[in-house]
Amino acid sequence: MQKKGTEKAFREVSASGSHYQIGVSIGKQCRDQALRMEKHLKESIASVPGMKLEKALAYARRSLPATEEFYPEYVEELEGFAEGTGIKFDMVWAMNVDFPDGRGRGCTDIAVNSEWTKDDCVYAVHNDDVSPYNFQDISITRIKPKDEPGFIGLCYAGMGPTAGMNAAGISLTGNALVPNDTKIGIPKMIPCRKVLREKGIYQALQAAMPEGRGHSFNNIVCDPNGEIYSLEGSATTFDALYAEDGWMIHTNHYLSPKMWKFEDNMHTWFSSIVRYNRAKKLFKKELGKVEVSTFKKVLSDHVGYPESICRHPDPALGVEDQTQTILSVAFDLTNRAAWICAGNPCEGEYKKYEL
Ligand SMILES: [Zn+2]
Repeated sequence: MQKKGTEKAFREVSASGSHYQIGVSIGKQCRDQALRMEKHLKESIASVPGMKLEKALAYARRSLPATEEFYPEYVEELEGFAEGTGIKFDMVWAMNVDFPDGRGRGCTDIAVNSEWTKDDCVYAVHNDDVSPYNFQDISITRIKPKDEPGFIGLCYAGMGPTAGMNAAGISLTGNALVPNDTKIGIPKMIPCRKVLREKGIYQALQAAMPEGRGHSFNNIVCDPNGEIYSLEGSATTFDALYAEDGWMIHTNHYLSPKMWKFEDNMHTWFSSIVRYNRAKKLFKKELGKVEVSTFKKVLSDHVGYPESICRHPDPALGVEDQTQTILSVAFDLTNRAAWICAGNPCEGEYKKYEL
């Protein structure tokens, strides 16, 4: 845990070469993070009545063939990662799979194009709200495969990107959704990584929402031209929301009426409703003068505390049910820079990282 008086920071890792080599290298650099995540997954499987590890791994394996077809290079990275960490591939794969959970978590996002920013830049911005202990699982990762543009991302154990931007200025951010039609298929993390290999908005949108998926995030995909899309997906369908006015806010509930019937339980989303409306109201006032400090201002908001835009652990809840903003990031797609705040944005500073 954080010592008093020390500044929070994320580890920085990087790798290049073949996909397999990248996996091995990141696996070695993030082994401790991967081992913690493995331990945590085993514990959460054991906590499900009647669930055995072997049964869970067998369930996870069923979504591998569709992924091998969709993005075989990433499966190669994961095979390398298994070697680098010393964790069996079956287990590494299971760490990427969506086990039924039904828990509504967080994340608040903003995207804005150059017509509203002070410096004429396009920004994709994200608060990452997960379990407080997930803070130690994140690395700032720079990956440059030999056949892809390369990206900088905030990645779990250096591998699974929760947000990222590539050298072509394509960004991937977004929000957890809880659709009611999940099935065996491509896990929701895989399209996030594939978006970061694409050089144009058309290809990136295709990568974000593959047929054959088993689940989906709300994938926010932007480019340096200020094309801003929010792809509200479920396993079987999606809607593509476009930032017609040049800016967009998204949290964790479906906004598209087409998607309302896929919402698993709207009663779990009051935090999301408050964060959405609050962020929209605060951000609207800033249009025309938006800069990095604007995002800190909006994303540090505490209305609705502790389940506010800047989220803090609710002491009334058990550790597994607590949610915290563990990072905040503003990708400047115009200059290909990432402004990253480690920990709650109300406490930390946004520091600049170059691609
Ligand atoms: Zn705060």
